[in-house]
Amino acid sequence: MSTHLTDNLRKKLNGKLIAQGDPEYDEARKVYNAMINKHPKMIAFCANVDDVVECVNTARENNLLLAIRSGGHNAGGLGICDDGLVIDLSMMKETKMDTSNNIIWVQAGILLKELDAITHTIGMSVPAGVVGTTGVAGLTLGGGLGHLTRRYGLSIDNLIEAEVVLANGSVVKANQNENPDLFWALRGGGGNFGVVVSFRFKMHPVSMPVGGPMFWDLSDAKSILQWYRNFLKTAPDDINGFFAFMVVPPIDHFPPEYHLKKMCAIVWCYTGDPEKAGEVFNPVRQLKKPAMDMVGTIPMPALQSMFDGLLPSGLQMYWKADFYNDISDEAIDVHLKHAATLPTMLSSMHLYPVNGAAARVNKQDTAWNYRDAFLSGVVLGIDPDPDNNEKMISWAREYWNDLHRFSSGGAYVNFTMDEGEEEVKNNYSANYQRLSQIKRKYDPNNLFRVNQNIKPAVM
Ligand SMILES: Cc1cc2nc3c(=O)[nH]c(=O)nc-3n(C[C@H](O)[C@H](O)[C@H](O)COP(=O)(O)OP(=O)(O)OC[C@H]3O[C@@H](n4cnc5c(N)ncnc54)[C@H](O)[C@@H]3O)c2cc1C
Repeated sequence: MSTHLTDNLRKKLNGKLIAQGDPEYDEARKVYNAMINKHPKMIAFCANVDDVVECVNTARENNLLLAIRSGGHNAGGLGICDDGLVIDLSMMKETKMDTSNNIIWVQAGILLKELDAITHTIGMSVPAGVVGTTGVAGLTLGGGLGHLTRRYGLSIDNLIEAEVVLANGSVVKANQNENPDLFWALRGGGGNFGVVVSFRFKMHPVSMPVGGPMFWDLSDAKSILQWYRNFLKTAPDDINGFFAFMVVPPIDHFPPEYHLKKMCAIVWCYTGDPEKAGEVFNPVRQLKKPAMDMVGTIPMPALQSMFDGLLPSGLQMYWKADFYNDISDEAIDVHLKHAATLPTMLSSMHLYPVNGAAARVNKQDTAWNYRDAFLSGVVLGIDPDPDNNEKMISWAREYWNDLHRFSSGGAYVNFTMDEGEEEVKNNYSANYQRLSQIKRKYDPNNLFRVNQNIKPAVM
């Protein structure tokens, strides 16, 4: 790339351009997953929508590979690229609340914990994920699973409008009335259709739920997982719990006798009448008394950032995912086999419910196809030391391979690495064709292809 092009773009931006050779370059090209080591030509820290338009036009006119980064959390590193231009939105964090209609407008650079901190001031929440450092933009565009999924649906089910810079440089709104096809595609279709510069979300009155983790010994995991399956199938929407196999970290928060022990856990979020929380949790407490029971009234921002300290940026991460329509006793046995060999202290396996409110949205109403799945599973190999990559990657692959026969047929796009075209098709299933037609309309030359890429339909 010519210095001329870099200089030109640098001059035009209100924000900051960092290019190869600049002193801040190596810091600026980092993403959350340290396994990803890409070298873009330029990273544009955009200050406003005009900057984003300038970058999109520059990439298109100069045939540059273009990546979009908001929170930088994508496990597959899809917020960065080699040799191209990165649009970084982390400077764009403005927000506006419309308290009379319970709506919040946020720019795309906002992180979950920043959104939570604002909505919590008025006792509200937007359904999002379980780690506060995640970007609202990438999480939402892929779907958005979290503590409020069963109660209020996915993040996309609470999206009212997005403002988007399209491949031709125009800026449009997408909502139920304006560009409804684009609005449909954005709700699950990721960064394929343009750069979303802001989102408008519905807020809900969730402020102090009863939540937190319960832990059991691995020897109790079979009966806990069977109970979890049966309970969640018919549980009221106001109770959400994600299941995990994990290693207890050796920190003061946990009694020393459990440090570094492999255990199973359910991380709860109950948003019903707090007086009834005892009734809700007693069945599982009576089935097997938790070894550690940390459930209590908790501010929503604290629940949604409970694991942030354990998961700083810069870890090595390798993820494999699938949706499951059910979890049979046979599948539970497969889980138990691999849970017993968790390869590193931070490696784990999570199952997130996608039933309740999320399942009452029609499969065809948004791009997110797996509305009839029961659980979204992800096997997570995580460790600070790259020397452990081989062992955690082979553990994650074997675990996933053994379970894959129970899959619904695809995985949640935000839980997968960069797995290629066939996997993307599986992940969108029957919605892929429509997505590919909408892609042809809004991005016929596939400018936005550093993502779980949907190819423009061929005429
Ligand atoms: C520790 C951790 C916890 C997580 N927890 C959850 C969870 O609880 N629930 C859940 O659903 N997911 C979760 N995820 C997955 C997360 O949703 C994805 O990693 C998501 O891609 C992160 O978004 P980001 O903006 O941080 O990512 P980035 O890496 O910045 O971007 C990821 C992708 O999104 C696209 N994109 C980002 N911003 C924009 C934009 N403004 N316009 C258009 N496209 C854009 C990019 O093309 C890119 O492909 C978690 C991830 C991590 C690492």
